[in-house]
Amino acid sequence: MTKPPTLTFLGAAGEVTGSSTLLETDRARVLVDFGLFQGNPTQEARNADVPPIDFRSLDAVICTHAHIDHCGRLGMLPKLGFRNSVFCHEATAELLPRVLASSANLQQVRLEEYRKGTAPDAVVLDPVPDPAWAEAQRRTADPVVLYARGDAERVARSIVGVPYRAWRDLAPGIRMRLHDAGHIVGSASVELEITHGASRTRVLFSGDVGPAGPSYLATREGAPAADVVIMESTTGARPVGAGTPDVDAMLREVIADARANGRMALFPTFSVGRAQVLVHHLAKLSREGVLGGMPVYLDSPMAIRAGEVCCAHPELLSAEAQAMIAAGDSPLDFDELWFVWSRKQSLKLLDREGPAIVLAGSGFCDAGPILHHLERHLAHERGHVVFTGYVLPGSLAEGLATGTARRVRINGTELNVRARVSRMHGLSGHAHMDDLAQWLVSDGHSPELVLLNHGDDAARQGAGTRISDLVQSDIGLPGLLDPIEIA
Ligand SMILES: [Zn+2]
Repeated sequence: MTKPPTLTFLGAAGEVTGSSTLLETDRARVLVDFGLFQGNPTQEARNADVPPIDFRSLDAVICTHAHIDHCGRLGMLPKLGFRNSVFCHEATAELLPRVLASSANLQQVRLEEYRKGTAPDAVVLDPVPDPAWAEAQRRTADPVVLYARGDAERVARSIVGVPYRAWRDLAPGIRMRLHDAGHIVGSASVELEITHGASRTRVLFSGDVGPAGPSYLATREGAPAADVVIMESTTGARPVGAGTPDVDAMLREVIADARANGRMALFPTFSVGRAQVLVHHLAKLSREGVLGGMPVYLDSPMAIRAGEVCCAHPELLSAEAQAMIAAGDSPLDFDELWFVWSRKQSLKLLDREGPAIVLAGSGFCDAGPILHHLERHLAHERGHVVFTGYVLPGSLAEGLATGTARRVRINGTELNVRARVSRMHGLSGHAHMDDLAQWLVSDGHSPELVLLNHGDDAARQGAGTRISDLVQSDIGLPGLLDPIEIA
């Protein structure tokens, strides 16, 4: 009798980062995603604890998309002895080398900054932070360098880009097909067909799934029929708001306010995904004449590169975006848009007065150029910070976004918060739970088993309740390192 296929969750089991799952059969071993744990120094230190598996015997690694919580540990593969290929969608294959090289550089820079005492500093002083939160943020050892630039380059050479919807043999008894998940450019749900003995089992990894509504990206695909689905549940605990927020109306208000009050509107922005969504909306408003010459600065080389990858793959974009490219125009560029390629150019923006919009990373406000823009504008009534997504509990971003932070410290400068702060919803790259449940049943089938990952336990329980209204499947909340037999 053959050993049944087994799944083991190596991360993102009851939490939202560190995605990685091992599939083993009696003939082959495949790893899906190898992402970073993120959040605070304690979480980050977990990245150095190598999962207890033999990387030399892996037949293949698959990467669902180029977000760091799904791909950020791929740079460790050469040192761990992995010598085979990393499979992903063709657009992801273009983004991944850049993301991994940037991650390697950042790890080195953080170590040097920590040792020199110049590490980024962004904290709320008033109200005084919760002592337990402050303790979790305290770094007691050097930040870990998981891999060097050379390792990232070695991984880049092993990446194989594949198109959506084409079967590909991966390992003895395992073949793979990718489906457009509509989350960021190149994002994929991964369908694996496993032949074991006389049986076949189809396993589907959702990856991160984007919302069903209009987007600059092509309409996402629904879940194909599968026996077992491993589904993300990031938004499982969030209430679904009534109606869809009108992003263009909210941006019009930000632009009108900037013009009327001479404000600089700062958007803390993630480079891959959120930045392109914002640029796409602003491009539309520019064509309608709403910007009227007001400059928009995209202060992130990675975001600029991600926009280029989008435009190089028009087939992955919406019909409207494809028509623009066919007409020689760009859905991710417009007259008022300025690309900021270097730190020097970014620092020059600090001297700028008058109405403008700046999109700068990091989206979490814990590092990157957004910090010097905040340091420059937070204490002034003519500043405006616009949050467009999730904020880490206890962080400077949460203190600002919820309006509770009165006094903050950024890179050693203490400031009273006088700038306008607002929050914009409707830009999430994740489907909300009801939408995700619709994705799951779009083919009209009920999987035998749905395993929920990539969400904290409240989110997973919320997701489990919602989807059990729609499907007859058994629903599991796998724990870290617990092997689960799937046939
Ligand atoms: Zn993602």
